[in-house]
Amino acid sequence: MKIIFPKFDKWGMPLVGLAAAVYFIMEARKPLRPRTRPKPERLLINGSVAAAALPALRLLLVPGMYAAGRWAEKQNFGLLAWLRLPTWLRYAIGFLLLDYTNYLWHVLLHKSDVLWRFHQVHHSDLDLDLSTAWRFHIGENIASVPYRGAAIALMGAPSSLVLFYEVIFEACTAFHHANWQLPYPVERRLNQVLVTPRMHGIHHSIVAQETNSNFSVIFSWWDRLHQSLRLNVPQQKVVIGVPAYRDPKEQTPKKLFWLPFTAIRPWQLPDGTVPERDEKTKYSSTHLCP
Ligand SMILES: [Zn+2]
Repeated sequence: MKIIFPKFDKWGMPLVGLAAAVYFIMEARKPLRPRTRPKPERLLINGSVAAAALPALRLLLVPGMYAAGRWAEKQNFGLLAWLRLPTWLRYAIGFLLLDYTNYLWHVLLHKSDVLWRFHQVHHSDLDLDLSTAWRFHIGENIASVPYRGAAIALMGAPSSLVLFYEVIFEACTAFHHANWQLPYPVERRLNQVLVTPRMHGIHHSIVAQETNSNFSVIFSWWDRLHQSLRLNVPQQKVVIGVPAYRDPKEQTPKKLFWLPFTAIRPWQLPDGTVPERDEKTKYSSTHLCP
């Protein structure tokens, strides 16, 4: 299996690094939500979780997805090959389909008990910022290899598109996790097309209905299409995390590594209450709150 991708490593990843550096500076200068835990502690914990997961992403997931695309190309296999479209259209539709299948994967991470065990490691973070963007359990990255590989083969996505999409995917994931307060009118417009920090902040709320919404990764359209979009929750009212995991002492790299293999706790706070948005709130998919 091919593992070295010169353009991806020489241009793609440094571009993601550059984008992340900008978000890192901006979230320090203009934070969106107040932080509950000290930054060095957050960087150490999330950095440790990422250190285990990133090799799986670069050495298994990326080569696996590339191999799936290469196989489809050689066999002339997959939806995009059968449609006999002009190259530019094949790439454009392929990009959209890749993003749509990642929306579906994210829904699956929340709906399947087994997958949620792993995805919970990402959601149990007590704050949401750039470092959360890479806080994924290695098991989640490994589990996504067969899914994303199969999706790529079935749609017949070209291997070069797979790598290009992955660069944009990483840059956008970093962007919408950043705790960066973009000017509200700018974000409202941007959110018509892309997933933005306020939109994704609602996805990390301890209120179940809010966590089970806003699953999109790059384009916000998929949530609109499936009516899983909730926008009218002010960020100052969002409490980040999973209600049963509120104790900072449980946030050690070791405990987070073993978390998927422990019993799933019910969706309630340690005192037994179930977090809810006040009754008057009727969720809206059109009004992004500041
Ligand atoms: Zn999620």
